[in-house]
Amino acid sequence: MLPEAGSLWLLKLLRDIQLAQFYWPILEELNVTRPEHFDFVKPEDLDGIGMGRPAQRRLSEALKRLRSGPKSKNWVYKILGGFAPEHKEPTLPSDSPRHLPEPEGGLKCLIPEGAVCRGELLGSGCFGVVHRGLWTLPSGKSVPVAVKSLRVGPEGPMGTELGDFLREVSVMMNLEHPHVLRLHGLVLGQPLQMVMELAPLGSLHARLTAPAPTPPLLVALLCLFLRQLAGAMAYLGARGLVHRDLATRNLLLASPRTIKVADFGLVRPLGGARGRYVMGGPRPIPYAWCAPESLRHGAFSSASDVWMFGVTLWEMFSGGEEPWAGVPPYLILQRLEDRARLPRPPLCSRALYSLALRCWAPHPADRPSFSHLEGLLQEAGPSEGCCVRDVTEPGALRMETGDPITVIEGSPDSTIWKGQNGRTFKVGSFPASAVTLADAGGLPATRPVHRGTPARGDQHPGSIDGPFSWGPSSPAPAAWQSAATHPPASTGRSALPPE
Ligand code: AMP
Repeated sequence: MLPEAGSLWLLKLLRDIQLAQFYWPILEELNVTRPEHFDFVKPEDLDGIGMGRPAQRRLSEALKRLRSGPKSKNWVYKILGGFAPEHKEPTLPSDSPRHLPEPEGGLKCLIPEGAVCRGELLGSGCFGVVHRGLWTLPSGKSVPVAVKSLRVGPEGPMGTELGDFLREVSVMMNLEHPHVLRLHGLVLGQPLQMVMELAPLGSLHARLTAPAPTPPLLVALLCLFLRQLAGAMAYLGARGLVHRDLATRNLLLASPRTIKVADFGLVRPLGGARGRYVMGGPRPIPYAWCAPESLRHGAFSSASDVWMFGVTLWEMFSGGEEPWAGVPPYLILQRLEDRARLPRPPLCSRALYSLALRCWAPHPADRPSFSHLEGLLQEAGPSEGCCVRDVTEPGALRMETGDPITVIEGSPDSTIWKGQNGRTFKVGSFPASAVTLADAGGLPATRPVHRGTPARGDQHPGSIDGPFSWGPSSPAPAAWQSAATHPPASTGRSALPPE
């Protein structure tokens, strides 16, 4: 076979350093057709085609010479190097957040085009389509993956889309966290493809809005997701990154109980001493999720991600409803500056809603950090309990002995609590005496379930509670007393679905 005209430079380069025998493996197996593609080739990739380390050093020197030549233009690196704030505030070295490391000239893995086959379409985003795929490893093992391909117009990829695509790659290749979607590698083909961990259950938003007979997500599970999300966001923040597009549509379900943060196309590094990223020009931004300073000044920070976390929490407890539905985008900022806030969804406890309101503090400095939020979520989360007698009273949440119950609202002072039956998924009020509380380890509860003062903006008091009302009353419920002194009978049932 004759060398392709477009890759003669490669043959020449390799001939010059007596490595011409690697021409086809580099072209075919590593898919390198332009000098810039070597930015994504790791030593292990070259090991894989049988090139020894001394030969690799010769190649590296030759590439350096090629690049320092008058015509060198490294398009991938140029764009990845452009992974910088469009407007950078002056940086003070002492207290600026840690920056994303520069790409080290190697991806987690460079994947040959032939090793990935694409299947069904999973979805499409701003700059590409995502397919289910199968990646065949050199060992012959096949791994299910998701493949995001860069959308290509008739004249090649559009500059912004290519930039966002490569930016997403450059961010993801440096991330490793149990709740952040993993990038396996890049295919330097036509089109460019990102090979990612597959989240087989799709987006959280799709799951939240799935029609019957798909059951709703349990409140206890939503709280688990919130803790996972706060952990992942604390990790991103510690790496000096702002996500800028936190929403349930960008959370993917890797398993029934595991979410992963995805879609890093809008991620930017925090620039400067104030840890903010300021947008340089007009770009589409998700209005209804944005903090007021992002809408007014295009300013993004970990604190604006925290605001978005509050909106994501609201989405989760609203069954995936659209925030500020029906409000024109230009009015959203005005509403926020007039201190209007999204109302408390019926499934959201007052404690959790208070947390959302803290995320929506007008001043970024008054919002909790993600690492602080992890602890606050633990405290504000619902208590788990177990039904100790059948409840059949009219208007009460029906339950049978042994049903796992998530207590959404309740306090030692009230005789009527509100909760969710983990068996039936129904939410309602019930006599506190029907439930004993347990912490995760099956030990007696040691803390009151929920504090009573309605949070500001609370607009849905007990709309699904039935005729039961709840509030302070003098005698502490029997269930509370028993829970405080005796371990509840273990039923082995949990309100959460199995892994
Ligand atoms: P994106 O371009 O990242 O916004 O992705 C568009 C859509 O593709 C998402 O809303 C998901 O439905 C789907 N998708 C993206 N990445 C994955 C993945 N890793 N696993 C499963 N589905 C995905």
